[in-house]
Amino acid sequence: MSDVLVVGASAAGLATAESLRRRGFTGSIRLIGDEVHQPYDRPPLSKKVLSGVWGADQTALRAPADLAALDIDLVLSSRAVSVDVRRQEVVVSGGRRLPYGDLVIATGLAPRRLGAFDGLAGTHVLRTLDDVERLRAELAAAERLIVLGAGVLGCEIAATGRQLGLGVTVVDPAPVPMGAQVGPEIGEMLAGLHRANGVEVLTGTKAEAPVVSNGRITEVLTSAGLVAADVVVVAVGSTPATDWLEDSGLILDDGVVCDSRCRAADNIYAVGDVARWWHERQARSVRLENRTNATEQGLAVADNIMGANKPYVPVPYFWTDQYDIRMQVFGDLSGAHTIRVLEGDPATRKFVAAAESGGRVVGVIGWNSARGVRKARELIADRD
Ligand SMILES: Cc1cc2nc3c(=O)[nH]c(=O)nc-3n(C[C@H](O)[C@H](O)[C@H](O)COP(=O)(O)OP(=O)(O)OC[C@H]3O[C@@H](n4cnc5c(N)ncnc54)[C@H](O)[C@@H]3O)c2cc1C
Repeated sequence: MSDVLVVGASAAGLATAESLRRRGFTGSIRLIGDEVHQPYDRPPLSKKVLSGVWGADQTALRAPADLAALDIDLVLSSRAVSVDVRRQEVVVSGGRRLPYGDLVIATGLAPRRLGAFDGLAGTHVLRTLDDVERLRAELAAAERLIVLGAGVLGCEIAATGRQLGLGVTVVDPAPVPMGAQVGPEIGEMLAGLHRANGVEVLTGTKAEAPVVSNGRITEVLTSAGLVAADVVVVAVGSTPATDWLEDSGLILDDGVVCDSRCRAADNIYAVGDVARWWHERQARSVRLENRTNATEQGLAVADNIMGANKPYVPVPYFWTDQYDIRMQVFGDLSGAHTIRVLEGDPATRKFVAAAESGGRVVGVIGWNSARGVRKARELIADRD
């Protein structure tokens, strides 16, 4: 029996376990994960690890000695297959039952796949350290990379592909890259950035079918014609890893549905990319897929396990690195808001801008302007 059982040994799960210890929790903590690796950080995978600047070991979230000092039972290569909520037990592959006092669900996301491309030699997804190692090995002998999907991940992979000297095409049916994260105007700027760096940006374009020769992908048929490829990365989004919870009785709706305390049921919490919780200040249910949320929500859940009974009400934040640009976004830029430049100049690729809707600032964005964007964050109006 563990007092707290965390399923998912990555950013959010580790943050929860660590925060519990930092707050003086003396009960037993077990952290289980289905990967073979010690907990590692994902953001470098599409950037420094894919480009070869960092080795895999540099992604470790904690040194072995720091992990040991936490006094947690870390069980790797162990997949949760179901949970019995009534008996408070998680079942792992092989059938072993792990009883818990409190359960924390931290299983993150699984990449969405495109049926016709799935499993073909030369096609990849990128979520894990193993994924990036496979992709990096293939890119070493490649000349042409196609990225299907111009979201954050697709854009980062395209930028790294150019850094590696590859010819890169990005294909996406949406009108601009990263429109869902930054809206149409900034998305258009981003398309310009990629084009200026030599990427062929095929927005408004659908990938229709792979062309295969000798069992390997050689071209992609798109609605704009054929595009040649040695390697194709499918980066078309991800879905919450909740397959193991299907029969649990927990409410699943694009994530584990939680109340404002990140509680899915009595003694059960969800954290990180997999969690959909009621954001009291925004008066809507929210699920965030970013690194900062993984840590902050882990902290909030640790507090609530220890009895704080506090709502989790963060201002959403993410960053992305593409070429020599660090882009930072606070709040919500996803709609067709009015963009007002607050400082700097988009033409120099160093600026801070606010997104306004109905006369209120709903989000701020900075390109290479860390200090300015942090200051501008204070302009974001709460809903009420
Ligand atoms: C390539 C890449 C680049 C990124 N770059 C950025 C960035 O620049 N900025 C940013 O803000 N965010 C970025 N992110 C997002 C950020 O990494 C995630 O938000 C963060 O990792 C979420 O942490 P998590 O612990 O919730 O989920 P994950 O990190 O996905 O961890 C979930 C863990 O649970 C395991 N698991 C799943 N199912 C089971 C099961 N049934 N049993 C046991 N274990 C299971 C998984 O294998 C995984 O190890 C990036 C993500 C990726 C993939």
